[in-house]
Amino acid sequence: MTLFDTHCHLMDEQFSDDVDLVIQGARAAGVKYIVVPAIDVVTARRAIAIAERYEGVYAAVGIHPESAKDVPACDFDEVERLAAHQKVVAIGEIGLDYYWDAAPRPEQQAVLRRQIELAKRVDLPIIIHNRESTKDVVDVLRDAGAAEVGGVMHCFNETLDVAEKCMALGFYISFGGPVTFKKAEDVREVAAQIPDDRILIETDSPYLSPHPFRGKRNEPARVRLVAEQIAQVRGVDVDVLAAQTTANALALFRGVKPYGE
Ligand SMILES: [Zn+2]
Ligand SMILES: [Zn+2]
Repeated sequence: MTLFDTHCHLMDEQFSDDVDLVIQGARAAGVKYIVVPAIDVVTARRAIAIAERYEGVYAAVGIHPESAKDVPACDFDEVERLAAHQKVVAIGEIGLDYYWDAAPRPEQQAVLRRQIELAKRVDLPIIIHNRESTKDVVDVLRDAGAAEVGGVMHCFNETLDVAEKCMALGFYISFGGPVTFKKAEDVREVAAQIPDDRILIETDSPYLSPHPFRGKRNEPARVRLVAEQIAQVRGVDVDVLAAQTTANALALFRGVKPYGE
C-alpha cells in the first residue's frame, strides 16, 4: 500500500528530537510521500531542510493566516525565492482563520490574495487553511483566480455544498483525523460523497490525531487510520482508497517525483 500524507508539519518543534524515527514509522506504515507545509518564512526554511534530507518528503512555503499580522514585504519576496527550490511543491499553508483572528480580517484577506498572485507567478498549487471563514475564502479564491493554479482545501470540515464550490474552482478536498472522531458524522458523510478524482488524505501532524490517539501527538503513519475510515464510509477496500488518494496527490503536487525515479 502506498499512502500520501498531504499535510504534515514535520518542521514543528514537537518533532525536533525524533523526525528520523517518525519518518521511519511512516514508511513502515506505507506512507511514501509527505508534504510539509510551512506557516511563515522561518518554518518554510525548516520544512525545506527536512525535505532535502528524505526521499518522498516535500515542502510547501507560505504565510499562514495566524502569522498574517504586519507581514513585511521582504517575507513575501523570501517565500517567492524559496518557492523555486526543487523540493517545494506548493504555496501553503495560506488562507483565512476567523476563529483565532490573529490578524484583522481584511489584512488576512490581503495576505491570502498576495500569495495567490505569487502562486500564479511561480506556477504552484496552493494549500488552503479555512477556519470559520468559508464564505470569504471561497470569494477570495474565486475573485483572485485561484482556479489557474488549483490546490487543496486542507482538513475539510464543511458541507458538501461548500466542497462542490471549491471543486468547481479546481480544488481537491482533503480529510484528516477528525473524520475518525465519534461525533463527526457530518464530515464522514461528505467524505463518502466526494468524487474519486478529488479526494485527498492528511494528518495535519502534530495536531488532530485520529481515534484512538486523539489528544496525543499525531504523526504521518496515522494517515492510514484516516484512509481506513474513509474507505469504510465509501464502501471500498483501503488499498483502493490509498491508490486513489496517492494518484490524486501526485496529480496535484506535480513537483513530487514518483518514488525510486
Ligand atoms: Zn491549517
Ligand atoms: Zn496545517
